[in-house]
Amino acid sequence: MTQSIENIDEIFRLLKRELEQYRLPIVSRGEGKEIIHTPFTTLISCILSLRTKDEVTELASIRLLKRYNTPEKLIRLPEEKIQSLIYPVGFYKTKAKRIKEISKTIIDDYSGEVPKNFEELLKFKGVGRKTANIVMVYGHKKQGFIPIDVHCHRIPNRLGWIKTKNPEQTENALKKILPEKYWGDFNHLFVLFGKTICVPVSPFCSRCPIQHYCKQIAVTKNR
Ligand code: SF4
Repeated sequence: MTQSIENIDEIFRLLKRELEQYRLPIVSRGEGKEIIHTPFTTLISCILSLRTKDEVTELASIRLLKRYNTPEKLIRLPEEKIQSLIYPVGFYKTKAKRIKEISKTIIDDYSGEVPKNFEELLKFKGVGRKTANIVMVYGHKKQGFIPIDVHCHRIPNRLGWIKTKNPEQTENALKKILPEKYWGDFNHLFVLFGKTICVPVSPFCSRCPIQHYCKQIAVTKNR
């Protein structure tokens, strides 16, 4: 029998209301005047965001993608130029190399278009499940995918919805219990929630809008 999450409609309603005051990370922002959002810019921003703070990712994405927003434009840039545009994102030298390689593969093997197939995206060096899922949801606007980062893994476990050990298990478990109408909103809502209220160490339970529905599993300290 398929399990379900009690009060899920109310939980999403409360989270949306609470979190609308915060700015979304650049990878999940559907539109913006800084750069044109396409599957390719989503993919590159997501690569830049790995192990990097949102503010740093955002500025680096704008510096790079405002002018060089297609694989054809990026492939012509020397690697050192990409490095200087994306610095100080984490691992900027490796990421500059990956960005060049990925641009070349997209041109050579996919006619210049980011593939719309999840398994194909996973073949790119430097692209894991989280990035591939993000490209499907926020780049291609496809349904049926749930990108899972550390926040999206931690919070459903705290809430008591699931009991999983890693993001891939969480992705599979959530697909069984989370109504599909919430899959598209899940990532950006839970990332924001995990950065602002249900933070990794000592979450702000006293001002949490869904405290009433939370089992606070493994929460030993809170504010
Ligand atoms: S009550 Fe605390 S642990 Fe539970 S979701 Fe809210 S902030 Fe997180």
